[in-house]
Amino acid sequence: MTSDWRVSLAGAIRSPRELLKRLDLPDLLLPSAEKASAGFPLLVPESYLRRMRPGDPADPLLLQVLPVGQELDESPGFVKDAVDDQHAHAAPGLLRKYVGRVLMILTGTCAIHCRYCFRRHYPYDEEPRKLEDWAPAFKVIADDESIHEVLLSGGDPLLMSDRRLGELIERLESIPHVRRLRIHSRLPIVLPDRVTEELVQRLTTSRLIPIMVVHANHPQEIVDDCSEMLRKLVRSGITTLNQSVLLRGINDSVEALRELSERLIDLGVIPYYLHQLDRVQGAAHFEVDETRGRELVAELRNHLPGYAIPRFVREVAGAAHKLPLD
Ligand SMILES: *Cc1c(COP(=O)(O)O)cnc(C)c1O
Ligand code: SF4
Repeated sequence: MTSDWRVSLAGAIRSPRELLKRLDLPDLLLPSAEKASAGFPLLVPESYLRRMRPGDPADPLLLQVLPVGQELDESPGFVKDAVDDQHAHAAPGLLRKYVGRVLMILTGTCAIHCRYCFRRHYPYDEEPRKLEDWAPAFKVIADDESIHEVLLSGGDPLLMSDRRLGELIERLESIPHVRRLRIHSRLPIVLPDRVTEELVQRLTTSRLIPIMVVHANHPQEIVDDCSEMLRKLVRSGITTLNQSVLLRGINDSVEALRELSERLIDLGVIPYYLHQLDRVQGAAHFEVDETRGRELVAELRNHLPGYAIPRFVREVAGAAHKLPLD
């Protein structure tokens, strides 16, 4: 049976021309959008598009998804494997960087293509793999009693069907020393109908403590079906955290970050991380100076309760944890 979210995903916008037309934006943006989308195609779900302001080329949601010519500029220091994932491979699809937790890359695909993404050079057309292919990863986890938490990531792990996700969770539940299951997904933000009753039910009845880490960057994302879905997650008892990336022209202001935290905590979602941009090729125009980032977070402290301040961090290859910057 096809569930609604699959229909929503199939109907996502994939053409720069259509995106500009739907938002009443001038055609002069089209040539560079088409050129820049050749290597990393445009992809925007309808629900996300509905939250953009028509006629505004600087809309903070549009800027996250519209391909622009600057992506093709070479910038020193901005490379393909910005977070050095290749060195952390413990088994196919399994990354191990930190003590106590491992990260499974369930799929290379996403429901939206964020232009700043550190995985923008991943093979996005790769199909999700079969459960059998995970045998070596499960063995690494089962053989090491120090692993208490398994992170599901990608791409977007929630692009897996409830059935396949269920099978995978069952496999993890059978490993006694695994206690927590953490899902890192942007789907509750960009394709809220993915958060099905079945999924919530599966997570809340698991032996494993479920933690959902969503990914919103701007308060304008947290409206309508998205806020309803976040509330539903929180009410179901699933610990829900948010991580953002600090992005030039999008959320590099006290107003944007403050309102983002306000909306999150009003729904019971805890701001977790504010990431300094990973220096991936094609994303240099999104970078905010680290010093500016520190100032912004310092200023946030003057306005918000302590639990509403995300930790400002950067990923450093070889470090034992994400590096605090504030
Ligand atoms: C970010 C990350 C984690 C999680 O780190 P936390 O600080 O626990 O959120 C785990 N594994 C890998 C490979 C990561 O990149
Ligand atoms: S991995 Fe996350 S940030 Fe990157 S394109 Fe997918 S949804 Fe966007």
